[in-house]
Amino acid sequence: MPLPKGYLIMKEMKKYTHSNIALITGASKGIGRAIALGLAQDGYDIWLNFKSDVKAATAAQTEIAALGRTCTLVPFDVTESECVRSALSPLLDEETPYILVNNAGFIRDSVFGLMSENDWLQVMDVHLNGFFHVTRAVVPLMQRARRGRIVNIVSASAQVGMAGQVNYSAAKAGLIGATKALARELARRNVLVNAVAPGFIATDMTSALSPQDYLPLIPQGRVGTPEDVAGCVRFLCSDMAAYVTGQTLAVNGGLYM
Ligand code: NAP
Repeated sequence: MPLPKGYLIMKEMKKYTHSNIALITGASKGIGRAIALGLAQDGYDIWLNFKSDVKAATAAQTEIAALGRTCTLVPFDVTESECVRSALSPLLDEETPYILVNNAGFIRDSVFGLMSENDWLQVMDVHLNGFFHVTRAVVPLMQRARRGRIVNIVSASAQVGMAGQVNYSAAKAGLIGATKALARELARRNVLVNAVAPGFIATDMTSALSPQDYLPLIPQGRVGTPEDVAGCVRFLCSDMAAYVTGQTLAVNGGLYM
């Protein structure tokens, strides 16, 4: 059947002008899940990436649907260039997200003298190569749409330098550098790029750590919640942050000033 007249033009227009989609990596749980729910409350439909936890991702999808927004699950490993491309291509062929949050991450802590090459490489891979693969897929479309927000989740560990986290501190510090450079490249295209640096946040990632060891270091006297971080991401994605780019916003209860 022939396509209706103007179909391709309409499709191209939709691809570059649709503005209410947020793509969040590592959003099955923890900080990413809270960001997805927060942005859904702000009126965004969600493309929810995760790696392996289908049950948690499906539960987050149900919660987002209850908020009246659509949630498309997009499972892939951010370190696998080809998987990222093949998972996102069909979606990006139709629509361009307004927001990308690079949140997927993990830790492989040990003192440097005992750190294996694998632990070094895996942490670099998720935080730096993962950022590269996902962001490279989305940026040309945001540039063409001349609007977009990118938020990279980094860490106080990059700012303070945490013993036992040389790999993680280095990877997150690299991501802060990438945030600034990309912000300069994209500012004229109305694509704003910022980072959010959480301190100690209660999630699966920190469940093995004892809060009592860290509380004396935190002036506010409590560990953070995923919602504390999500609130700052929501701000950076809002019209209130229209003149903010290349910045790293700390969410750490005063742990690092
Ligand atoms: P979390 O609860 O362990 O959740 C991690 C998320 O990332 C999960 O959804 C996981 O998916 C996903 N993920 C991990 N590796 C992935 C990969 N290769 N590809 C795609 N998804 C992947 O962690 P979190 O504490 O929320 O941390 C989220 C981000 O905040 C990370 O970048 C972390 O470095 C940063 N951060 C956390 C803290 C903290 O105190 N928690 C502090 C500073 C910064 P599956 O579970 O489905 O595999």
